[in-house]
Amino acid sequence: MPFKKLQADLLFDGHRFRERQVLVLSEDEIVENIIDLDQAGSDIEKIEGILSPGFINCHCHLELSHLKGHIDENTGLPAFVRQVVQKRNFSEADILAAIEAAEAAMLQNGIVAVGDISNTLHTLAQKQKRAIYYHNFIEAMGFNPQVADSNFNSYQHIYNGFAEQFGPKQVSITPHAPYSVSEPLWQKVITHDNNGLLSIHNQETEEETLWFQQKTGGFADMFKAMGLNTDSFTASGKTSLQSYFHRFLPRQQVLLVHNVYTTKEDLAFIRQTGNKVFWCLCPNANQYISRALPDIAMFIKNEAAVVLGTDSLASNHQLSIWEEIQTLRKAHSNIPLELMLQWATSNGAKALKIEDQYGSFEKGKRPGMVQIINSEARRLY
Ligand SMILES: [Zn+2]
Repeated sequence: MPFKKLQADLLFDGHRFRERQVLVLSEDEIVENIIDLDQAGSDIEKIEGILSPGFINCHCHLELSHLKGHIDENTGLPAFVRQVVQKRNFSEADILAAIEAAEAAMLQNGIVAVGDISNTLHTLAQKQKRAIYYHNFIEAMGFNPQVADSNFNSYQHIYNGFAEQFGPKQVSITPHAPYSVSEPLWQKVITHDNNGLLSIHNQETEEETLWFQQKTGGFADMFKAMGLNTDSFTASGKTSLQSYFHRFLPRQQVLLVHNVYTTKEDLAFIRQTGNKVFWCLCPNANQYISRALPDIAMFIKNEAAVVLGTDSLASNHQLSIWEEIQTLRKAHSNIPLELMLQWATSNGAKALKIEDQYGSFEKGKRPGMVQIINSEARRLY
């Protein structure tokens, strides 16, 4: 017995637009079928605009939500990071309230699942309400190889906190960026049990390319200022991605985040590694931090598996996948909306390994529903 029949002006099923078709739901908004309008009978509810499965936000730092409006724009990445680290004078109550408000906004604008970076346990209580699905990436960072063990133990503690509540499937320990994790710490992170799904900030700044290619630039200066001995590091002459990616294990699925300085040679390189890789674009954060955008046309031309992320409220005015799409549309009016909605739904679900429940209107799934009307996205179910 169908519970609801929905007919939108335009139905997006997670892969493509369908016209004159009706979405049939059973109880609890579980998808029953998509059928032709002619065969749908009566009691059909009309939905204005586009009806899409819920959005997947593949990259967020929910725990930084209290920094909304506190970080200067267009400073470049090193100064951005410095600002985030320096803004410490927030009470725990403020941090928790900001987390709650940010999640409520995500829910409202149609986000149903999030790949969330956690350096602390601050988001745990909110996530336990299970209003949104989270994959928790416990992010490891540590330049100094001598303290890799104690660094790792502190991340293990955070990992345990999340794994106790959500089970190992929803938690990974992951490296922050290719330049910010010492070799012994990297080894511990990569070989951690159950680490089948990883995420890393990739090629967000040109300094990263300079460091790996020539051992020069802002990171060389920063390591020197930190008093780190970098003698064991040799420039590879290649881009950062081509220099470090082999340090992942072949079985690991990897979410590469930002990709502002990624080249078509990098895409070709990744194709021959055999790893399953998703390219997460966070255009509003790139605009906020450095007024830059990745080479989106190149990703499309090379049929790369693109997904979308909001990054945090430290580098974004809102946490909304629809707003990320709007920014891409402004920069590239020729990108089909159908393609960007795929990135936001079915691709995102695959990237977080949750395509059995999310990302498309297919029988037995409960992917949530978003209505897009008058240039706004809002959750229906
Ligand atoms: Zn990030």
